[in-house]
Amino acid sequence: MSFDTLGLSAELLRAVSEQGYSEPTPVQSQAIPVIIQGKDILAGAQTGTGKTAGFTLPLLQHLSGATPVKGRRPVRALILTPTRELAAQVAESVSTYGKYLPLTSTVIFGGVKINPQIQRLRAGVDIVVATPGRLLDHVSQKTLDLSAVEMLVLDEADRMLDMGFIHDIRKILGLLPKRRQNLLFSATYSNDIRKLADKLLDAPVLIEVARRNVPTELVEQVVHPVDRERKRELLSFMVGSQNWRQVLVFTRTKHGANRLSQQLEKDGISSAAIHGNKSQGARTRALANFKRGEVRVLVATDIAARGLDIDQLPHVVNYELPNVPEDYVHRIGRTGRAGNEGQAVSLVCVDEHKLLGDIERLLKRDLSRIVIPGYEPDPAIRAQPIQKGRNGGGKPGSRNGSGQQRGKRSGGGNASGRGRSGASARGGQPKGAAGANRSGNSRRRPASSRSA
Ligand code: AMP
Repeated sequence: MSFDTLGLSAELLRAVSEQGYSEPTPVQSQAIPVIIQGKDILAGAQTGTGKTAGFTLPLLQHLSGATPVKGRRPVRALILTPTRELAAQVAESVSTYGKYLPLTSTVIFGGVKINPQIQRLRAGVDIVVATPGRLLDHVSQKTLDLSAVEMLVLDEADRMLDMGFIHDIRKILGLLPKRRQNLLFSATYSNDIRKLADKLLDAPVLIEVARRNVPTELVEQVVHPVDRERKRELLSFMVGSQNWRQVLVFTRTKHGANRLSQQLEKDGISSAAIHGNKSQGARTRALANFKRGEVRVLVATDIAARGLDIDQLPHVVNYELPNVPEDYVHRIGRTGRAGNEGQAVSLVCVDEHKLLGDIERLLKRDLSRIVIPGYEPDPAIRAQPIQKGRNGGGKPGSRNGSGQQRGKRSGGGNASGRGRSGASARGGQPKGAAGANRSGNSRRRPASSRSA
């Protein structure tokens, strides 16, 4: 299959070939012709599948096909994403693929000054890529009019719902013309996603593609059982003794990410944390330094890492297992991509046995457990409950206009201090709780329970 057969214009094909893509990915070959026909789609595809080009190319094609509007150009396409990083990356793709077309685009997210965004909007843009919070700020300041939008893309819709954006999304939908084309991308299908799809989509074509970043044989996965309090020491030891130069480490909470990054620095390992409480500038800097190899260990929460275009990493470490088993797959998809070998290491303490079991069920296989000499777990240590949700409890947060939710932050990590046994040895959650978080109760859960 080649890009030539998908019905794309010469300008788009030229931009695609400059990217060096020889053939469309499965989501591209399925989605592009359908979107060009003007149909709505519901696509099960996540980062790494090539989904961005899958919706951007036909979107550009549609917009470039119509007669140019005289005078100030109305916004004709809106792409919503859950995070600033993803918005920036999608906007970059829009520019890259649209470089030979006379279309204009801009990106809107919080955490940065609003005035430059206002100026760009005033000049007139065809395509807006945005996180929901700042987009609504612009609408309320009357610096953005969405009444001429012909195409709407919800990218990573499941994440948007998980992050508590449903109310913002509903508000935005109310601002759009009734007649429009809708493209919904989601890595998972919860009841909430289904409800949103029912409301939003008109006779959608369903597209489901296998995850390109499903753990493959190229990713060596290993579990190192270790005590809760000795994880940091073990991580420093592994980074140092094996001379790992570029490691992406995942924690469950922002607080945990900060603390770990500081401790690694104290151990003499250059490190930076990346999460939603950091300013946009700090996040961009941390990522750039990591990519350049100046920062050896980048500590990230799941949401912050989501959408980051860092892949082909040699080492990914689960410092804490995710509450949602699918996140494990997302995390380790950062390594071993594009034919490179990678290693995904999970440091697992007694609190996390239930989470590990959930992950192994999802993967349909057991992961090998290797105890590192000197770090044998102490069998006398009892499991402690892991806080439910992403970041423990917390009241629903106010929007910070950044595409992230801000809320009361509860303590970092899993140690609430109550020694428990029995059910708590499986994480202190009712059976299936982690899955339930993922699949449908995001409205009942405080928005702030997702930590970015
Ligand atoms: P995405 O899933 O949209 O985040 O894309 C993941 C990565 O795949 C990006 O780095 C793209 O540049 C790359 N990519 C997208 N389409 C193709 C393609 N047809 N062939 C090779 N790489 C691609």
